[in-house]
Amino acid sequence: MAEGQDPAALPAGEVVLIAPPEGGGVRAWIGAATQKGAKLIVLRQTAALAGAVGGPPRTSIRLAETPARGGPVVVVVPGETFDRMRAAGGTASFDPGQATVEEGVTTNAIGWLQGTDPDAGVLMVSAHLDHIGVRSDGVVMYGANDDASGTVAVIELAGALADMGPHERSLMFVAYGSEEAGLLGSRYFVDHPPIPLTDIAANLEIEMIGDQDPQLPAGVMMMTGFDRSNFGAALKARGALVGPDPYPEQNFFERSDNYALALSGIVAHTVSGWATIPTYHTPEDTIANLNIPFMTTAIGSLVEPLAAMADGDFTPEWAEGGRPAPR
Ligand SMILES: [Zn+2]
Repeated sequence: MAEGQDPAALPAGEVVLIAPPEGGGVRAWIGAATQKGAKLIVLRQTAALAGAVGGPPRTSIRLAETPARGGPVVVVVPGETFDRMRAAGGTASFDPGQATVEEGVTTNAIGWLQGTDPDAGVLMVSAHLDHIGVRSDGVVMYGANDDASGTVAVIELAGALADMGPHERSLMFVAYGSEEAGLLGSRYFVDHPPIPLTDIAANLEIEMIGDQDPQLPAGVMMMTGFDRSNFGAALKARGALVGPDPYPEQNFFERSDNYALALSGIVAHTVSGWATIPTYHTPEDTIANLNIPFMTTAIGSLVEPLAAMADGDFTPEWAEGGRPAPR
């Protein structure tokens, strides 16, 4: 049973009851309990967890080819149930014999625009095509911003760059599956690349460009890890509406599909509109809440800079210390 505000002070135990604060931070509590060997985590319902009550226990989702990580099972219970469990002295039992494994299929969709110079390297533009689906309480999670907006950008850029005629470099357009389940599509892509990874000159991931961050100048998208390479500066010099990420403490560079590629050495960054948007992972992430004029201008600003890179010999490079250390 955890009391207090500090996940680090959580006592170790196989079954852990946690009443997370209303303001969020559930992830930190689950992480702390997992590190301390929890097998079953019972969470008291908060407003943010409302959709998870009464649903199936949450277990980790992984690629079939990767070994099971043995992470904890997480269940969310209504406040009164949680309080009864606590009053009863904190005893709970968990029968792992009832656990089942469900298999599903995910898809990485890949488009290819052949370049005239097969030795010039490949520019890669990507997004993720999945979202959360239907919540256990039946509420539909639309994901218009996260990440239909990025997928639309990939399709529109593919069309615009194809219309300009052949480029020297080939262009690869990728829409990953299962980002929401833990960046699975991009990890699979890196483990089973359709072309040698060393052929990829750079990767631009586009995620959540459905609205403008009020902290950034009008029309400008943030690029995660902007200073880690000269990719962002090169795009910006050609007119791309990109700028540095105003939230370095959030580590967004490591939290998107660009990261699997960056870990493999490819200069790979993510551009976003408003990474901390209030509709994030809520049922309100709908088309009605997209800022279409912002999106249109943002996507349009990428066409010429990407075309220039596809027709030139500039290859982005990591800055000193910018490349993430392989794990
Ligand atoms: Zn998401």
